[in-house]
Formats: sequence, structure tokens, C-alpha cells
Amino acid sequence: MKKKIFMPVLTLVYLLYSYAIITNNNMLGDLLSPILMFIITCVIFYGFVKKQEITILKWLGSMVTLAAFSWFLCDTWWGIQTLVLHTNPEENFITVYGYSMSNLFLFLATSFAVHEDLKKMNKIQAMLDAIIVSVSITVLLWLFVFDQRSDKVVLLLTDPISMASLIMDVIMYAWINVWAFSARKIKTPLYHAILVTGALIFVIADFVYYYIDFYIDYKANTWIDGAYVVAFSLMAVSAILKARAKKEKPDLILSGSKKRVVCKLGVEIFILSAPLIVLIFKRDEIEYFILLVMALLIYYILISFTQKSLFQEKLLQLEKKNVLELEKKVKERTEEITKLHNTDFVTGLYSRRYFEARLSKSLKHLDQNELISVLYIELNKSKSIKYLYGKDTAEKLLKSVSEALYQIAIRNDGFIATYGDDAFAIMVKGYEAEASSETIAMEIIDRCNELFFIDNHGIKATLNIGISCYPLDTLDKNNLIKNADIAMMQARDKGLNRVQSYSDKIGKITDNRHNIEVKLKKVVFDKEFLLYYQPQVYCKDGTLSGFETLIRWYEGGTKFIPPLDFIPLAEETGIIVPLGYWIIENAAKQYALWKEKTGHAYRIAVNVSSKQLVEVDFVEKLEAILKKYDVKPELFEVEITETQQIENSINIQETLNDLKRLGVSIAIDDFGTGYSSLYYLKNLPADRIKIAKELIDNVESDFYSKAIIQMVISVAKMKGNKVIAEGVETKEQWECLQKLDCDEIQGYYFAKPMPAGDIEDKWLDKEKVIEKI
Ligand code: C2E
Ligand code: CA
Repeated sequence: MKKKIFMPVLTLVYLLYSYAIITNNNMLGDLLSPILMFIITCVIFYGFVKKQEITILKWLGSMVTLAAFSWFLCDTWWGIQTLVLHTNPEENFITVYGYSMSNLFLFLATSFAVHEDLKKMNKIQAMLDAIIVSVSITVLLWLFVFDQRSDKVVLLLTDPISMASLIMDVIMYAWINVWAFSARKIKTPLYHAILVTGALIFVIADFVYYYIDFYIDYKANTWIDGAYVVAFSLMAVSAILKARAKKEKPDLILSGSKKRVVCKLGVEIFILSAPLIVLIFKRDEIEYFILLVMALLIYYILISFTQKSLFQEKLLQLEKKNVLELEKKVKERTEEITKLHNTDFVTGLYSRRYFEARLSKSLKHLDQNELISVLYIELNKSKSIKYLYGKDTAEKLLKSVSEALYQIAIRNDGFIATYGDDAFAIMVKGYEAEASSETIAMEIIDRCNELFFIDNHGIKATLNIGISCYPLDTLDKNNLIKNADIAMMQARDKGLNRVQSYSDKIGKITDNRHNIEVKLKKVVFDKEFLLYYQPQVYCKDGTLSGFETLIRWYEGGTKFIPPLDFIPLAEETGIIVPLGYWIIENAAKQYALWKEKTGHAYRIAVNVSSKQLVEVDFVEKLEAILKKYDVKPELFEVEITETQQIENSINIQETLNDLKRLGVSIAIDDFGTGYSSLYYLKNLPADRIKIAKELIDNVESDFYSKAIIQMVISVAKMKGNKVIAEGVETKEQWECLQKLDCDEIQGYYFAKPMPAGDIEDKWLDKEKVIEKI
């Protein structure tokens, strides 16, 4: 409500005051002027002091408020004198000099602004601007105010208050120009521009007042008084704008910011118009005109230099900013690439590369007695999981496992990384590193005993862990990961979800493996390999039914290397393929020799690795060998293990079918262990099942083993297969197997594997029936 009335009333007061000025109505003017000045003072106080939080602006605002307030006081006193006391205010000391107080306060306000502005301005530019403006004003004042009369200057000297006011005006005027020039490329807040315009009008009005006072008689309530009110009104408008403006940073307030409205005061026009004014109004004083033009020329020449250097400085700064920004971007990009390089795409863990770098760094900074343990973790069955559930699920499982491992690692202060497709490495550093690594390993195994739920499947992750510790297991830093890997392989040999710490023994085993591998690559088959034969007998009476061929390696002719030590290596290296043909050929040759010697053909079995079965021409080659030595296919038996692999490989299955067509006998070896199961028994084209020694060992004592054997025998019989028991070592086992209706047996109880010569001596002279007493 108040606001609604206030604005029309204020407008009315302004209109009435304007009317008073136009008509030179003293009564109305003297009455309204103090009222207006009171409102203006209040507004300026509200906007520039009360609403101000920044100290420097509060000070500046206070000065402007005081300028308006002292003007209000003088106006009020003037009004009282004319309207109430009916005395002449122009003769009163307070009214004559009181108005100069406003000059003083505005001057102080300008001084604050100058102080702040100079911090932001180019000093040379400001100085040049100040000089040209001062020259122009001095010339104009000299010509117009003092009329080139030095006595006027002297007269002014006798009136120090007026003189001080005039000097302050000149300084203010000069500064406003300087500010406008120097700020020409800077965008200034609107309120700031209005405030400066107000001050400018005040100063110009003051100049005019002094001129009028000198030469014409000053009359109150004329347009000059109106100009003062306009000047203060503009300051009040500025105060309102400032109060409404959002909070700003102090350094933007005085010198402006780039986001503000452009302030083009056009003061430049003034210095350009100064010589024109001289030319028009003081045509006789041409020398002053020339003086001003010369001054302007010099000014513009100098200013173009400073502007240029300013521009170059700006360019330089811009360039510097661009370079800095570019550097920042390059740094960010490099960090991104390094991160990508150092992280694994699927698991999001650090990469092997980063792990190795981190490990060697940690090894370099080890304190005395500090240890570093490395856990090498390998997931098993990733291939079969991929095969069973698909690539996506396998990847999700890998991610879930990696997350679980990560949690365990960080809980125990370990550092984890992905180490290959389905392997991880964890590093633990500290005095208790060895113990911590074991804790981590146990926690991992525990976690892996629970299911991982992926895409509605509950999947069990199986893994093996190898641990190696520096400097306990190795002093060679490079061997740390290698040893953990070796230990992991040892763990894998023992079964799933096993942990193995590296030890010298393991190291020796590995070294041994390595030695064998090297020797195997160089071995001449005929020189170092020979075949042993183990008789197989009928269970019912112990009469000879055939032989199993078993390879023997006497390295360098003397050092015996067991088949279980070199056969897996021969498979890994692929040597098993030529070696396998060598075995088949020699076994077939032996068959032919014995047949020739005894006139009787004995069944002979060879162990064939699945690596050999995948060979596309295996059956063809076998057939050729059998033909070469005239071996009856049904008396030649192929023993196969790793039945799961066979089941999964279409190639091998085709090979087995071809063997079957050829008439070759097929035996499933080591039945009852590993992956073999009744399921495979049903699907594979087998003639004979060889029950593993592990089951035979406990046949008399263990009900479970006995039950399995019984079941295998009955299933095999149903399918028309024969059953042979391996590793029979006692008479009791034999008798037990007899009761279970087993077809054949093989084992140390009857004969150990032996060279062909021994077979001939002990078994082929006469068919022996072993009756062990
Ligand atoms: P396998 O095929 O299961 O061979 C049976 C193993 O049991 C043989 O060990 C044999 O000497 C042993 N054995 C037989 N009866 C008894 C017994 O009553 N008690 C005990 N304790 N052991 C008995 P060997 O010759 O050391 O062969 C080990 C494995 O090496 C074989 O297991 C077979 O997987 C592989 N192997 C042996 N010779 C060949 C071969 O010529 N070719 C291929 N591919 N593998 C072979
Ligand atoms: Ca065998």
C-alpha cells in the first residue's frame, strides 16, 4: 500500500519541483527541494550503506550519503531563511559555504574509487588520460571561468572554501574522464555508470555555478539548482539498482566485470569537443585551439603505443591461458590413457603391467625385516563355464569373482590386479605379509565354497592359489611371481580350491620338470625308450589273456624317468604324437615277433593319449602299422583316459567310431577316477572297462568301492563290455573280484611290467597259471 502511494507522490513532487524550476517559483522550489533531498538521502543511505556488506563500498556509500545529507541540510536551512525567517540566505555563512560540504564528501567518495580503480588500471594509460583531461579543463577554465584574467584567480585565492571546492571539482572531473577512458574496454555495471554520471552532472553544474557566480548573478531555483537535484537523483537511482543487484565480488564492483552492461559515457567527446568549444566561442584565441589540438595529437600518439602494448600483453596472456588449458587437456588425456592401459577391461582391476611395476617399486622400498607375499590365483573351469552358460555369463562370473577377491584383498591391505584371462595376483607388504597372504587365501577359498548367482544360475567358482614370499622363498625378485605361479600349479595338481605355498621342494620339482622337458626335446627314441609289458590274466583261473604296453625311459641309457613324470610333458610339448606312433609300431612289432616265436597271437594293449586321438590321420596310420605287422585288429587294444575330453570332442568320437569300424579293441582306462562316469560308459564305443587301482585297493574292506565295482561290472555286462581290474596286489583282492564276476585282472600279484625278454622267459614258455601259495 505504502509503495503504491509513495511512487505517485514522489512523481508529483518531482513534477511540482520541475514546475518550480521552470517558472522560477521560489516558494515552491525552496519548499520542495529539501523534501526531495531528504528522500534522495534516505534512498542513497538504504542502497549504498544499509544494503552494503562490503566495507569499501560502505565507506564510499557513506560519503555519497553525507554529500546528499549536507545538501539537504543546507536546502532546509535555506528554506527556513526564505520562508520562515525571511532573511537572505546568500548572506548567511552556512548557506554560502555549507553546500561545499557536498563537494568535499563527493570528493572523498571519488578518492575511494580512485584508490580501488588504480589497482586494476594500466597506470601509464591512467596518467596520460589524467594529463590530457587536466590540460583541457585548465584551458577551458582559464578561458571561460577566469576569462584569462589573473586577478580573478587572485580573487579566488581570497575565498579558500570556494577555491577548494573548485579544485575538488576539477580533480573529480579529471578522474571521471580518466576512469571513463581507462575503462573504455571494460564492461561496467549499470549502477556504477549512473553513479558516475550523477557525479559528472554535479561537477559540471558546479563549474557552471561558479561561472554564473563570477559573471552573472546567481538566482536560486533556476535550472542550475535543478541540475544538482538531477545529479543527486541519479545517485539515488544508482543506489536502488545496487541494492537490487545480486551479491558481487568486491573486485568487480569498482572496476567492473565483463558480464555487465557497456558503459559508454562518451566523455571522450569532451576532450575532442574542448578545442571545438574554443574554436566556436573564443575564435580570437586560436593559439589555445592549436595548443589543445597539439595536446590531443600527442595524447593519441602515446595512447596508441600503450594500447598496443596492452593489446600485446593481453594476447600474451591469452596465449598463456590457451597453452595452460592445452597442457591441462593433454594431462587429463594422458591420465585417461594410462588408466586404460593400467586397468583390465572386463574386471576393472589394475592390469598385469601395473601390478608388475608396483611390485618392483615395492620391492625397492622394503624396510629391513619387511616381507612381500604374492598370491597367484587361477580360476579353473572357465572354458567349461563359457561352454555351458555362454560368454556373457562367464564374463559376469569373472567380474563377480574379481569383486569378491578385491574386497578380501583390500580388507587385508593387499593390492590386487588381473593377471591374464582368468588369473589374479595379490600383493601383500609388511612384517606380517606371510600370515596375511595365508589369511587372504583361506578367505578366498571360503568365499568360493559359496555360490555366485549370475543370470539366475548359482555357479561355483573353483580356483587354485599359489603363494610365494620375498625374501623367504626367493632372493631373486624376478622369481617372486614365477614361484607363486609354480606353487599354484602344484595346488592345481592336488585338486580344486587348493592353496599351496612355494617351497624348495616345489622349486626342485619344477626344475626337474624343466630338465625333463629339455631332455625330452632332444631324446632319440630308439636309444633311450623301451617298452615293458604287463601281463593281463583271466580272473577265473589266472591264465594269460594279453599284455599292456608301458613305456620306460632310461635317460642316457641309465637314469630311469617314470612315465608319470614325462608323459604329461610329452603331451604338453606335442612330443606324445611321434612317441605314440613309435610305441604303437614297436608294440605291433613285438606282437609279430611273439606270434612268430610261439605260433600264438596274444592281445596287446597300448595307452593312447587324447592328443594323439585328435590327429586326423590317426586311424589311417594305425591301420597301416597293423597291416605292416599283420596284427589282427581285434587283438590290438587302444587304452584311453580323459573321458570327459573325449566326450566333448566330436573329432575324438569320430576317431573312436573309425577304430571300432576297423575292428580295433577300445578300453577305457582308470575307470572310477577323475571324470569317468557311468554316463560316459553308456555313450562311448568301448569293448573293455579297466577299473582303476584306487577302487581295487579297498575292494575287500570298503563297502562303497565294492558297490561301485559291482555296479560297473553289471552295467558293462549289460552293454556287452568286458571288465578288467587294475593294480591287483593281493590274493584277497583277486578272490573278491572273482566273486564279483570280474572278467580279467592285472597287477603286481601276477606280474609287474617287464621287458619283452622276461615275458618270453616267464610267460611265453608255457602258459602259466599262477597259483600263489
Ligand atoms: P596306467 O595306464 O594306469 O598304467 C598302469 C600303471 O599302474 C603302470 O604304471 C603300472 O606299472 C602300474 N601298475 C600295474 N599294476 C600295478 C600294481 O599292482 N600296483 C601298483 N602300485 N602299480 C601297478 P606306469 O608304467 O608307471 O605308468 C603310469 C602311467 O603312465 C600309466 O598309467 C599311463 O597313464 C602312463 N603311461 C605308461 N606308459 C604309457 C605309454 O606307453 N603311453 C602313454 N600314453 N601313457 C603311458
Ligand atoms: Ca593303461
